[in-house]
Amino acid sequence: MSAADTPRSGTQWGRIDLHAHSTESDGTESPRELVLQAHAAGIGTVAITDHDTTAGWADAADAAREVGIGLVPGVEFSSQQQWASVHVLGYLLDPAAPAFLTERERIRVERVERAQRMVERIGADYPLTWAIVQDHAAPGATIGRPHIADALVSLGIVADRSAAFDGILHWRGGYYQPHRAPAPTEAVRIIRAAGGVPVIAHPAARGQATMDERVIAQLVDAGLMGLEVEHRDNPPEAQEWLRRQARIHGLITTGSSDWHGRGKPNLFGEHTTSAEALDAIVEAATGAEPILPA
Ligand code: AMP
Ligand code: FE
Ligand code: FE
Ligand code: ZN
Repeated sequence: MSAADTPRSGTQWGRIDLHAHSTESDGTESPRELVLQAHAAGIGTVAITDHDTTAGWADAADAAREVGIGLVPGVEFSSQQQWASVHVLGYLLDPAAPAFLTERERIRVERVERAQRMVERIGADYPLTWAIVQDHAAPGATIGRPHIADALVSLGIVADRSAAFDGILHWRGGYYQPHRAPAPTEAVRIIRAAGGVPVIAHPAARGQATMDERVIAQLVDAGLMGLEVEHRDNPPEAQEWLRRQARIHGLITTGSSDWHGRGKPNLFGEHTTSAEALDAIVEAATGAEPILPA
């Protein structure tokens, strides 16, 4: 970053929410609508962090400039630690960085094949087909279990996404299939190599029970820069522990909603990030620029 770009410190970001999904992955609203709804909810700066894609950045940026809120372009990168799926948020990375491009494409293909395997298994017991699932995903979207959930809802098999995740789509539901993804340390390195700022998403959520002191130390060695502490899936005691880990390793801490539109009950602003934390993220990033609030 050149001297002319700084100082950003002191930017009036407003209320900051750094984790939200659009129809480019498993959210129910377009990138533009994501920004409009964040604005309507009183958010001053929002991040778009779709799973394994940056395709929503341009439309989100147009909408952010239109309504005058800040936008932090990001991604929620899939990784796999033994049996557990670990999500790594990457902020302000260069979406064209070669290692990121290659791995991102690989994961997206793996996700389709894995969803097809799950649909095949579910289809043995329910009238579900791959074509119905595709009807519930926007063209080019990163495919995930939520799209299968929406198909099951449309068939009247479950009431909503949550019911699908509690039963048929649960990892112990009898139909679950994992998808391959890089190790979390590799995901962190890829985001750093793209000039981005890696932050472990909801580190204490059930699927990420492998997160312990040793794993965090390894991730820090790989270049980890932050932990998403305030998130509805991190139990309060775990948040305290995560804050201690952040102090020990000098990590940034964030808080966010993980908004998915109508796909999840998570509401914009239910958790927020401090201006100091966002200043530190912007300061550290070299891959992309945020859009500043008007
Ligand atoms: P996948 O990445 O395909 O394994 O699907 C996991 C995604 O499903 C996560 O990123 C969540 O956003 C979403 N998800 C998990 N649990 C629920 C739920 N109970 N209701 C709606 N979406 C969920
Ligand atoms: Fe999601
Ligand atoms: Fe996640
Ligand atoms: Zn998310």
